[in-house]
Amino acid sequence: MIDPRVDDTPRSLAHAAMARVPRRTPWRWLWSKRVPSLPEIMKEVSDGRCPRCGRLLPGGGKIPSVKSYFVYATLPIHPSRYELIHSCLVDGPRQKNARDFDERELLDAGRFMADELARKGWKPWSKMLRWALARPDDDHQAEALAQALEVFERWGPANDTDALETLIASLGPHCPTS
Ligand SMILES: [Zn+2]
Repeated sequence: MIDPRVDDTPRSLAHAAMARVPRRTPWRWLWSKRVPSLPEIMKEVSDGRCPRCGRLLPGGGKIPSVKSYFVYATLPIHPSRYELIHSCLVDGPRQKNARDFDERELLDAGRFMADELARKGWKPWSKMLRWALARPDDDHQAEALAQALEVFERWGPANDTDALETLIASLGPHCPTS
């Protein structure tokens, strides 16, 4: 059986993801108030990195990425080493969603999404992606873009999370390990 997604490229996935993003309307203004701060998410914290490969975990260890793990809980609940590795894009189960895409093509898809979000009126989300793509080198751009898309997948006006998930997981191996 031919994998129907075999012809996917980062650009076609970005197209698919953006096609399902509605235009921002006054009715949807509330969404735009809920844009978390990407620099905050990417600040180093303990338990923010994968104990196996050293990559920044999705959400930087600050959003619940595994069940029963809430950093902002009143009592500190420390995730186990297993839970941390499990939530890693490379060492956890999400890696099965990854495709072997060229890093430059993934970053290019990010720029396309930033443009599309601005065009549809989602300025704060577009700004978040642009901040990610302004990091000093390709690997750090990949890291920040993966984090931005993770946040967008959770809180943004995204309706197609399959395409986004493939992009996020595919960015994983390109992220720096320290
Ligand atoms: Zn890892």
